[in-house]
Order: sequence, then structure tokens, then C-alpha cells
Amino acid sequence: MTDDRRYVLCIKRYALGVKPSYLWPMKESLSERDIKVIWHPYTQHQNFSFPIPIVKGEGALLFDEDGNSYIDAISSWWVNLHGHANPYIAEKIFKQALSLEQVIFTNFTHEPAVLLAERLIQILPEKPAKIFFSDNGSTAVEVALKMAIQFWLNKGLKGRNKILVFEHAYHGDTFGAMSVSGRGLFTDAFRELLFDVIFIETPDAENLDKIKSIVEFHKEQIAAFIYEPLLQAAGGMRMYEAKHMDNLLGFIRSQEILCIADEVLTGFGRTGTLFASESIHYPADMTCLSKGLTGGFMPLGVTACSQTIFDAFLSDDRTKTFFHGHSYTANPLACTAGLASLDLLLEKSCLNQINEIRNQHEQFVQKELSKVSGDYFLNIRILGTVLAFELNSGKNEYTNQVGTEIMNLALLQGIYVRPLGNTVYLMPPYCINTEQLKKIYRFILEIPFRLKAQN
Ligand code: PMP
Repeated sequence: MTDDRRYVLCIKRYALGVKPSYLWPMKESLSERDIKVIWHPYTQHQNFSFPIPIVKGEGALLFDEDGNSYIDAISSWWVNLHGHANPYIAEKIFKQALSLEQVIFTNFTHEPAVLLAERLIQILPEKPAKIFFSDNGSTAVEVALKMAIQFWLNKGLKGRNKILVFEHAYHGDTFGAMSVSGRGLFTDAFRELLFDVIFIETPDAENLDKIKSIVEFHKEQIAAFIYEPLLQAAGGMRMYEAKHMDNLLGFIRSQEILCIADEVLTGFGRTGTLFASESIHYPADMTCLSKGLTGGFMPLGVTACSQTIFDAFLSDDRTKTFFHGHSYTANPLACTAGLASLDLLLEKSCLNQINEIRNQHEQFVQKELSKVSGDYFLNIRILGTVLAFELNSGKNEYTNQVGTEIMNLALLQGIYVRPLGNTVYLMPPYCINTEQLKKIYRFILEIPFRLKAQN
């Protein structure tokens, strides 16, 4: 380690309030070893200094190696539901690992996968018939897209292979998932390679006729419509109303277009109900799940589908098979984590906690945030456990640096938020307590002063 590097690290640690004895690390730290060998996701390494080494998690808190704690206000990229290192889930995984850790899922099956499928089928609003496992949100989406396209082909309809998508959608980072996402910063480098889709706006009181005429025009070519129900998260925490979606989905279904609900983020209570689709009248033909599926413990993806979809793949003709599978399909440890997380989620106390977070967000907005003068906090919105707003500072875009500034200021206060540009949002684990929420709210109210003091 050069002295320059050591000096930068020392300043950073000092700013974070690290104990003086640790300020001048003599041996190479974990952060330093990390930046020599690791390429982090969504990270520009040119101006990335040091990742914070996390050694422990407990409830809503993460602890670094110097003993500093951070409230995880975004559930570690929206996955964690019941807190970090939850002992109930951890013990279930441990026990399962001692009996079966992994088995190829073609000719074999196992209890955790079957049980998880049975339980998901019971609680998903559309009551699907089959569960197809994969290992993350993007793969859950890829599976749904491939199922939809092959569904029509298996039924003998060629050319019905276009996907209808919402502007500003985000469905993942693999090529198919990028293709059905909004075009922009995340997809620009690959734009020419992405397959063509049909974009429509999210529905509101004014645009329904316009959207319907676009759908009508392309209907013969459209295999499926994919949507994030009620909340477009990565696209900027954009929320839209169930009643307009009902109107649109009713029309889309009447055109015999398959519907894919991407509940990768909205599933498992985030929007206040178990699944966001519960608020929408029309059921999906396929639902994609991941993130909270295992309570944030293990990577796992699910594509649930109807009997009609499944039946279209039954044939003596081998070409009609769904040729898709991942090495870790239905990993027993991940399925076990999913079952344990469901146990906790369906307890009354957890559902109460979800309501309590929404109540606290509402009170904070009504009594404090909306009263701040000087229109600094714009478009304040709440959906279940998600609170979001824009900061009236610079452009409304992901590259707005104010997001990084806020993240760094929050870290100094022992809070982890990761704004999407000037869109600040909270999406805490359900175990977060009132004191921790209050600390985050206080920080939010102080953002204008803290930014001013810094510049
Ligand atoms: N769909 C939605 C709605 C998402 O929010 C995300 C991830 N943010 C994905 C799909 C992709 O999930 P993963 O990161 O697990 O691939």
C-alpha cells in the first residue's frame, strides 16, 4: 500500500468517526485488498475510493470492521425483508446444508422446492399452476419472455413475438431483460443489439385511449406485455394507479396478449400487500419473483405460469420443449431460505410491521416533510413501505451527482441510502424500528442544510 493510498483511507476513516487507533492501518485492509481484485456492480472505478468492509449484519443494521453501524434503509438492493443474519432463516439453511446442498433439477426433485412451489401457488393472486425456478430477477424475466414467445410458436402462430413494455421500465441487466427495459444510460452501449419492443406510457387518466390505439395497431404481433405492477423502481420509483392499470389490462387481455407481472421488487410486501398485483383486478399469465423471495438470504428466481402456458409445451414433438435451465435451478438452500422467509412474512406481526412502516412514512410526510418551505422536496409519494421524492437540485436524472453526495452524507450519520440521481427513496427491511426510522427522517429533513454546509 502506498502512503498516498493510506492517507486517503485515513481521511475517509476519520470522516466516518473511526477510532484513532485504526486510523493509520499498518497492514493491508480488506478495502485495499478488494480494490486490487474486485470489479463492483454499477460502479465507476475511476473515482471509486474504498468499499466499506462489512463484517456483520443484525436486524436493520450493518456493521463495518471498525465497529461503525449503518441503518440499511434500502434493504441491500431491495432484497432483505426480516433483517440481516436473521437466526431463524440462518438455522434453516444450516440444517438443510447438512442434508442436501444442491442437486441437478432435471431428473431429480427435493422437498424444499416442492414445498416452496406449493406455497407460492397458494399465495400468488392469480393462483398459477406451475413454478419454474431460476436464480435471480433477470433470469426470472428471461424465462417469462422465452415462455411467452415459444408459447405462440408452439401453438403454430409465427410472427407473434413482439413484447409490449412500459417506458422507464427496468427488468434486469441480461440482454432480453435489457431489451424490454426503457432505453437510456443502462442500455445505451448495447442499443443496436437489443431486440425491438413496443413502448407505451404507464396509464393515467388522460392517455388510455392513445395507449389502446398503439396496442390495437400492433396486436397481431404482440406475444406478451411485461409490467412492474404499480411501481417502476429502478426507473425512478415511479408510481401509477391501479384503477388505470385495470382499465389497460382489461383491454390488453381482451386482445389475447399474454401478461407478465414483474414482481421481482414489488413482491413479498414491499407495496403494502403481499403482491402489488393484488390491487389489480386482472390476473397475470406469468409472474416473476426474486429479491425478497428468500428474505434476502440467497439468490433465487421464480417464474410462475398458468396451466394454459404450461400445456402449450406438452407434445410428442421434442422441439416444443422449453429448453431452458440454470445450473443452480431450485437450489435446496435457496428454496429453504424462501420457505423460512415465508414463515416469517406471513406472521401477523410482520404484516403489522409493514403497515406500521407505511403509517410512519405517512405521518412523517404529513407532519414534517410536506411542511418544509422552499419546494426542496418534490413529488413526495408513498406506496406501502416505499417512500420517495425528488430533490429540487439539478437535473432529474440518474447521473445527477447530488445522489452520491447524499449517500456519503448519510454514511457519516450511520445511514445507508442510495438515491437514483436526485430521486431519494427509502425501502427498509420490515424489522426496522421506530427509532431507526426517526433517525433516517431527521437526516432527510437536514439534507438541504448538510448539502449547503458541504458546498
Ligand atoms: N425486475 C425488477 C422489477 C427489478 O427491480 C430488478 C432488479 N432491480 C430485476 C428485475 C432484476 O433482478 P436481478 O438484479 O436479481 O437480476
